[in-house]
Amino acid sequence: MALLRVNSVSIECVMGDIADQPGVGAIVNAANARLLPGGGVAGAIHRAAGPGLEKECGPLAPIRPGEAVVTGGHNLPNPYVIHCLGPVYGTDEPAATLLADCYRNALGIAEEKGIRSIAFPAISTGIFGYPVEEATGIALKTVVEETPRLRSVRHIRFVLFGNRDLRVYEQALGKLQAGTPALLIDLDGVLYVGEKAVAGSLETVQWLNGNGIPHLFVTNTSSRPGSALVEKLARFGIHTDEKRIFSPPVAASQWLATHAPGKAALFVPEATKAEFGRLEELDRHAESGASSVVIGDLGKQWTFPVLNRAFRLLMAQPKPLLVALGMTRYWQGTDGLLLDVAPFVKALEHAAGCEAVVLGKPSKAFFDAGLDILGCKPADAIMIGDDIAGDVQGAQRAGMKGILVRTGKFRPGDLEGEIKPDAVLDSIAELPDWWKESVKLP
Ligand SMILES: [Mg+2]
Repeated sequence: MALLRVNSVSIECVMGDIADQPGVGAIVNAANARLLPGGGVAGAIHRAAGPGLEKECGPLAPIRPGEAVVTGGHNLPNPYVIHCLGPVYGTDEPAATLLADCYRNALGIAEEKGIRSIAFPAISTGIFGYPVEEATGIALKTVVEETPRLRSVRHIRFVLFGNRDLRVYEQALGKLQAGTPALLIDLDGVLYVGEKAVAGSLETVQWLNGNGIPHLFVTNTSSRPGSALVEKLARFGIHTDEKRIFSPPVAASQWLATHAPGKAALFVPEATKAEFGRLEELDRHAESGASSVVIGDLGKQWTFPVLNRAFRLLMAQPKPLLVALGMTRYWQGTDGLLLDVAPFVKALEHAAGCEAVVLGKPSKAFFDAGLDILGCKPADAIMIGDDIAGDVQGAQRAGMKGILVRTGKFRPGDLEGEIKPDAVLDSIAELPDWWKESVKLP
């Protein structure tokens, strides 16, 4: 069964009998102009509904191609039947418009009746001769386009008569899904600033979940573990799990296990060390013997002896690898701007004459790893952040789109440089509107 969620509406396709859809508010009849039983879908529906349906249909007939009318369900398990007259292919023109009208008018009636779920057959594809591939494209395009206007309909089901029709629908839905862009969302400065949630961030995350938009929360924070970030988000009412938190420690621990096995000297806060579970940590006082020297955001724990120990480790033989958990220069705290990882890495590179491997924004390797988790191509992915360099430029260099928000560390001067964001939003609260305008389904 293929399923697509768009604008909080789920669209699915199943093989089955349109007259046997219990739990669905309305089924759609591929009717004839006189609303008589006949064969195919109409015959099956009239047989299951009993003679009361034909009696109720009488005064409503005839209907024109593209038109839809509603009756009760009679002996059917559904409260309503919506009858649509599809175009006869090659006779009723413009066929594509008339076919789209059927789906649009049926959804309009469902909305008027406050119906939550509706089941459609593949209108006009039987004896009316509409080619299935063509009709499927029109049906799906029309219902997807209608979704932003739907208030009560939350579930649209296409009930296909045979295997071949089901395959055509599944392929068409699969294509719509494959083109669904994924989102990487920066945490600090986008969803919250310090201990305060950005207004509208909760609603936007609910909107992402409601629409099944694949997403990861991306952070260069190496000062707290993923579990602490999940707890922090929960305090703002945003519920997620650790698997959605993509941070430099997570990326680095995987990368180091294969690229620099051996003892790692970790310059990260105690709480973050759990994320390096697979790595063996060098004795915390040793000044030689490291395979890697990993620099995270130690914040106020940076002192001359601590920084100098990292330097001595890097000068020891054999030379260890210098690893930076991100190259963020600074961040916005509640009391002002604060130094992040990059200045300390730069100092060590300069002193020890080496170059760090960066596993964190804005490195391409880091973004690539995040996209691997999402199973998404760079061209289909969007990064939203408050850092014009670390978020926007980093994402763009990795082949993604980069959106800048005017919250967190944003400064108006950010827009005067060479980096051009694909969009600039006042805050993440504007994302759903921007998405509906700018992210076109294929
Ligand atoms: Mg940020």
